[in-house]
Amino acid sequence: MLKIDEKLCIGCGVCEENCAFGAITVVDDLAQVNDKCTLCGNCVDNCEIGALSIEDGEAASRIDLAAYSGVWIYAEFRQGKIAPVVLELLGAGRGLADERGVKLSAVLFGHNLGDSARELIAQGCDEVLQLDNPALENFVDEPYANVLSTLIKERRPEIVLAGATAIGRSFIPQVATIVGAGLTADCTGLAIDEDGSLLQTRPAFGGNIMATIVCPDTRPQMATVRPMVMKALPVDLHRQGTVEELNAEHFNLTSRVRVLSSVIAEPDKVRLSEADIVVAGGRGLESAKGFALLKELAEVMGGSVAASRAAVDAGWIDYPYQVGQTGKTVAPKLYICCGISGAVQHLVGMQSSETIIAINRDSAAPIFNVATYGIVADLFEILPLLIAELKGAN
Ligand SMILES: Cc1cc2nc3c(=O)[nH]c(=O)nc-3n(C[C@H](O)[C@H](O)[C@H](O)COP(=O)(O)OP(=O)(O)OC[C@H]3O[C@@H](n4cnc5c(N)ncnc54)[C@H](O)[C@@H]3O)c2cc1C
Repeated sequence: MLKIDEKLCIGCGVCEENCAFGAITVVDDLAQVNDKCTLCGNCVDNCEIGALSIEDGEAASRIDLAAYSGVWIYAEFRQGKIAPVVLELLGAGRGLADERGVKLSAVLFGHNLGDSARELIAQGCDEVLQLDNPALENFVDEPYANVLSTLIKERRPEIVLAGATAIGRSFIPQVATIVGAGLTADCTGLAIDEDGSLLQTRPAFGGNIMATIVCPDTRPQMATVRPMVMKALPVDLHRQGTVEELNAEHFNLTSRVRVLSSVIAEPDKVRLSEADIVVAGGRGLESAKGFALLKELAEVMGGSVAASRAAVDAGWIDYPYQVGQTGKTVAPKLYICCGISGAVQHLVGMQSSETIIAINRDSAAPIFNVATYGIVADLFEILPLLIAELKGAN
């Protein structure tokens, strides 16, 4: 709350003038505060005689930022292995930790973790905090959130990153709530500024702007990052690091949820997010029949089919194939897009691809701004030629 020292206050009115919320009035030479006060602190900064202060609840909630140190990556472990996004986060986390001059740690929990800690060290981290317990075999929000939040409260990292996967999106917000931290979801860029604030960039307002978000007053700074956006470091089997086995008794692993069985939904033979070659189609394909042509090209190239939202909305292909802001993020070696205009919401899902080839009959289509190679032509002429050529070569 805002405290006014009656002995010091001379009723000069500077605080009243500087309050943008009309929360202070001077009555009988004494400043008085009403319930419009947002504790912004502007009056305190402008009171030259120091008669105003923000105290108790607010002061207590201003945490000691210096007490927090280290960059943590939540090392998601599923179906017996480390999720690929973790390796990408270690690549990004290594850069952040080096800039801050702090340790990069991976927090790994699950069951039958095997040699995973070693893998994490080889991919860039200095330390692995590991909890291997049957109670953590299947992902369930409650125990997962309990373990991570307990560790954060006790060890106070300054940054915690997790993949924006189904698991990360499910329990990381719960962890942020428990530890009283902010959380930026679905980041596509991370950087550190000179005072140690994490600059968390993500699309906002329907993908029309890229917003950079900072959490200056709370710690840790928490973010989830989309798979395929950051780059993993090369594997270094000689890297040294420590592995700390955590004691399960220290944590509350109970849950009100019991997993009876898990079913993996896999709509495609080639997993779109992991395919090296992706052949994507948009409204320019005109129909589901157009996608048959695209599938033929994907098949002959050993790649996976993908689509823009316009094609999915038209019912020509199912949603799991959608790439973009509200679909999957991919970063294959080769992304061929056919009849896709290049809306920003599509680009955020594929622009990290190594090589992009765009086929579009409109030479002014924005997709050509991100394409490595562009073919201005009718796709119904080009695709059969390309398929025939590749079939001949195989
Ligand atoms: C909140 C929000 C989220 C969104 N999320 C996504 C998302 O995740 N993914 C996504 O893709 N979109 C998303 N969108 C939609 C996005 O804004 C675009 O509307 C969409 O990407 C357009 O799809 P398209 O490029 O296939 O269609 P269009 O923009 O209609 O482009 C079709 C292109 O095909 C070309 N073409 C037509 N015929 C031929 C031919 N015979 N040969 C060659 N070229 C041809 C045209 O020149 C044109 O450039 C989102 C929108 C919003 C508001």
